[in-house]
Amino acid sequence: MTTVLGIEGTAWNLSAAIVDEDDVIAEVTETYRPKTGGIHPREAAQHHALHASNVIERLLKEYRDKGHSPENIDAIAFSQGPGLGACLRTVATSARALALSLDVPLVGVNHCIGHVEIGRWKTPAVDPVVLYVSGGNSQVLAHRAGKYRIFGETLDIGIGNALDKFARGAGLTHPGGPKVEEYARKATNYVKMPYVVKGMDFSFSGLSTAATDSLKDNSLEDVCYSFQENAFAMLVEVTERALAHTGKSEVLLAGGVGANMRLREMLNVMCEDRGASFYVPEKRFMGDNGAMIAYTGLLMFNSGTTLPIESSHVDPSFRPDTVDVTWIIDEKEVL
Ligand code: AMP
Ligand code: MG
Repeated sequence: MTTVLGIEGTAWNLSAAIVDEDDVIAEVTETYRPKTGGIHPREAAQHHALHASNVIERLLKEYRDKGHSPENIDAIAFSQGPGLGACLRTVATSARALALSLDVPLVGVNHCIGHVEIGRWKTPAVDPVVLYVSGGNSQVLAHRAGKYRIFGETLDIGIGNALDKFARGAGLTHPGGPKVEEYARKATNYVKMPYVVKGMDFSFSGLSTAATDSLKDNSLEDVCYSFQENAFAMLVEVTERALAHTGKSEVLLAGGVGANMRLREMLNVMCEDRGASFYVPEKRFMGDNGAMIAYTGLLMFNSGTTLPIESSHVDPSFRPDTVDVTWIIDEKEVL
């Protein structure tokens, strides 16, 4: 049995977990909550620096209390990117220090792949098309020929940031996504808004601005509803085309925006129409969490991928399609 300690801290959640092949053994999370406005990168990094050592101490205590010894830990995984540079550097520093003190290898995990792998672990999905929608990221991914390929992605901001930005302008507090969902439920009219899909990519910045403008003439409820309808239809359209293109028969939803019930409903209808299975992990595994980094680190470590400390620099724009997926042997492609 392999045991890996993983640390996530690309944006607002600092979260560390210890997992083995069977389950999450311990997990501790400290969330940065801005007092006003959105995520301030420097403040988020300061939050992570302030809490890093007590998060790790509490994690190791929980692990010991459950009858395990830190000597069982085989590797330290950390989210190497994409994310906010200052946050990534803080987490990487803690991970290096831990790896040195426990004398075990370091594993650098791509955050987007972390979302995919925890979803495959915690749902029956085997080889899905993944819709990963969070604050900073929006991507449609699927495994093909040794890599997680990006079939479609945002050309500007992530859907979560687009919702949060609009919500802030409407006087709602951060994070705005859940509040937009609430108001949307009480809408009575659809208001026309931009629908931007270019090839397999989508864009949310213009939609967010148009939604803010249309608040002058329409109720907040109607604007929230219309924003969601357009944004989610764009995401579902690209997910559906990725399914058709790859011939896969499963869809996995990942990322914090995946909590949205309207998005789930639209994806579910599309999957039913195509005869595909639709999977949504438990909420604690959907947003950013330490377990996803620890578990992906475990898959990487078990398939021989570790990271020398001297090349463990972070990458704020780390793309998932640059990672060799050493832990999946695709028999169809080997033949
Ligand atoms: P993550 O970056 O994966 O931690 O996700 C955070 C993002 O998810 C933020 O932009 C939130 O506004 C968004 N979010 C959380 N819950 C919901 C929801 N119910 N509907 C839409 N967006 C949501
Ligand atoms: Mg994320």
